[in-house]
Amino acid sequence: MSKELVFGHQSPDTDAIVAAKAYSYLQNQLGYDTEAVALGEPNAETAFVLNYFSEPTPRIIKTASNEVDKVMLVDHNEFQQSVSDIKDVTITHVVDHHRISNFETQAPLFYRAEPVGCCSTIITKMFAENKIDIPVQLAGLMLSAIISDTLLLKSPTTTEDDKIAVKNLSEIADIDYQKYGIEMLKAGTNVAAKSDQELIDGDAKSFTLGGKSIRIDQINVVEFGDIQKRKDDIKKAMEAEAKDKGYDLFLVLVTNVLDSNSKLISVGEPESAVEKAFSKKFNGDTMDLPGVVSRKKQVVPPLTKALEN
Ligand code: MN
Ligand code: MN
Repeated sequence: MSKELVFGHQSPDTDAIVAAKAYSYLQNQLGYDTEAVALGEPNAETAFVLNYFSEPTPRIIKTASNEVDKVMLVDHNEFQQSVSDIKDVTITHVVDHHRISNFETQAPLFYRAEPVGCCSTIITKMFAENKIDIPVQLAGLMLSAIISDTLLLKSPTTTEDDKIAVKNLSEIADIDYQKYGIEMLKAGTNVAAKSDQELIDGDAKSFTLGGKSIRIDQINVVEFGDIQKRKDDIKKAMEAEAKDKGYDLFLVLVTNVLDSNSKLISVGEPESAVEKAFSKKFNGDTMDLPGVVSRKKQVVPPLTKALEN
């Protein structure tokens, strides 16, 4: 059987890297010959996790077709988020927890999609279904991925399956997940080490809503003050990038991962459009959004509604 590569999306987060490692391990136990690789450098949080569990960083690839004919995708399916030559290889497996869009194949494949908080939660279930034991180190990694994607089970994307997986994985890894989780989330929020440009690009995604070009970035912090004191410079960087790339609206959602509240910084479209979306007023030039942590569930939908009406 020829070797297959397993990978998550570009600009990998912890789940993208961990789910690839976990799925590769599972498939190898089931008789496949696979290698987990990544489509970019691990971020600060993922680097902390790999180091904590003494796991090697996966090899980083730019293209796949130069080394294999077949690949398996985890934590994504949209081609623009995948390896650059995805159309030149055969996708044999997908395991994912996102919307399905811009995806098609020539041949039948194994496709597992579930609306849960983390791809590693689905893979945890697949280990049980296949009666394969999860090694201790891998359980620690998978636990970390779920904590990362669900912000310690507090994001509205969290499901019962995620909670069960966290409980089972923390038992295997013998870890107090609350205590470890805060330490891990803190490790991913080193704002001081990043430039204004890195902060506004770090986790930014583009959307077209109501015919407008919208950019939404999210910055995780443990202290709002770390961003507050740099806000004027961050806004200048946002304005410059919005002008350069033609964004009608650029939002930066600053999320405190310890108490699950956010503040919004906005550039572009009149403030009234954003105020309409959230039925809230700006306080100076930021908007308080208590309880908001999910871009996908709590920011994009109200904004879509406000801009499309
Ligand atoms: Mn991801
Ligand atoms: Mn994920």
